[in-house]
Amino acid sequence: MKLTCLGIESTAHTFGIGIAQARFTDSRAAVIAAKQNAKLNGEILANVIKQFTTKSGGIIPAEAADHHVDVCDVAIAEALSAAKIAMRDIDIVSFSQGPGIGHCLRVGAAAARTLSLVHKKPLVGVNHCISHLEIGKLLTAATDPVLLYVSGANTQVIAFEAGKYRIFGETLDMGVGNMLDQFARQIGIGFPGGPQIMKLAAAGKNYIELPYVVKGMDVSFGGILTNIRRKFDSRNYGKEDLCYSLQETVFAMLVEVAERALAHTGKSELLLGGGVACNTRLQEMCRIMCRERGARLYVPEKQFLVDNGAQISWLGILEYLKGTRTAVENSAILPYWRTDEV
Ligand code: AMP
Ligand code: MG
Repeated sequence: MKLTCLGIESTAHTFGIGIAQARFTDSRAAVIAAKQNAKLNGEILANVIKQFTTKSGGIIPAEAADHHVDVCDVAIAEALSAAKIAMRDIDIVSFSQGPGIGHCLRVGAAAARTLSLVHKKPLVGVNHCISHLEIGKLLTAATDPVLLYVSGANTQVIAFEAGKYRIFGETLDMGVGNMLDQFARQIGIGFPGGPQIMKLAAAGKNYIELPYVVKGMDVSFGGILTNIRRKFDSRNYGKEDLCYSLQETVFAMLVEVAERALAHTGKSELLLGGGVACNTRLQEMCRIMCRERGARLYVPEKQFLVDNGAQISWLGILEYLKGTRTAVENSAILPYWRTDEV
C-alpha cells in the first residue's frame, strides 16, 4: 500500500510544496507505528522551495504573503511534475497550520483548503515545529532524537517523551535566527542575515565578551542583541570580530541546553533542524559535544533544514495515520500553536 501527501509550508518567508509517500504492506501496523511515534518508511518525491528575500531590511509580512500568492500555482505544478504524478494520485493535502506569521500562514491554508475541496482530498493541518523533528527521523538514521530546532522565529529543544511531544528548553524572547537577522540588518547585510554573519565570522580573530544568557533550560537573545548593537555603534570593534563573538556565544548557549536535554531524557541522538542549523560552526560545536558524551549527531541536508513543504507532507501522512482530519471549519490558522499542545 502507499499513501501520498501534498504538503504546503508557509509559516514565514518560505513558500514550499512537498510531496511525500509512505509505503507499507500492513496498514494496521503502519497506524500503530504512527501512534507510537515509531519510525515509518517513506520517501520524498518532491520538495519545491520558494523563498522571499530582500537586499536590505527584514521581512514585511504583507510582502512575504504577496510573494507566496504569486508563486503558489507554479510551486504546486513544479512539485507534481518533479514527482511525476497528478493531483488525482494524491491521497491527502496537508498544510502548516501554525505557529507562524498570520499573513503568510493564511496563504498556505487557503491553498490547501482549495486543493482539498476541489479535488476531494482529506485535509490535515500540522504543527510546523514537529514537522522538523519528523522529517529528520525520515531522512536520517535517528530513531528517537532530541531536536535542536533553531530557525528564524523559533528556538526550541524538542523530544517525544512519555507519549507526547515536549519542549525541554526554548527561547524566552526571539528566535536565534531573528536575532542574527536583526543584527545583520543593522550592519547593512540584508535578509536572511545568518549566512552573511557566518562568512564575516570566519574572518573574525578576537573574541569580544558578550552576555551569556541561559536560564535553567531556556535561553534569551534580546539582551545580547542590545549589547552587540551598542558595541557596533561605538565603532570600537570590527564587524568580523563582532559576528565571530556573536556566533561563539549564542551557539555555546544552544549547545549547553541541547546537552542538558540529552542528559535529562537519557536519549543519545541529537538532530538539528531550522535554517540556523545550516551554520557549519554550530554543526561543529554540536558534533564536539555529542562526541564527548557518546551521542550521535544527525544533520539533514540543507533543503530539509530550512522550512520546506516536504516536512509538512511527511507529517501530514503521520497525522493522517493517527486519525487526524481537519474539517474546513476547523482549519483556521493557529499562529501561536505550541509544540506541547499537539
Ligand atoms: P527558517 O526559519 O528555518 O527557514 O530559517 C531561516 C533563518 O535561518 C534565518 O534567520 C536565517 O538568517 C538563518 N540562517 C540561514 N542560514 C544560516 C547560516 N548559515 N548561519 C546562521 N543562520 C542561518
Ligand atoms: Mg521552521
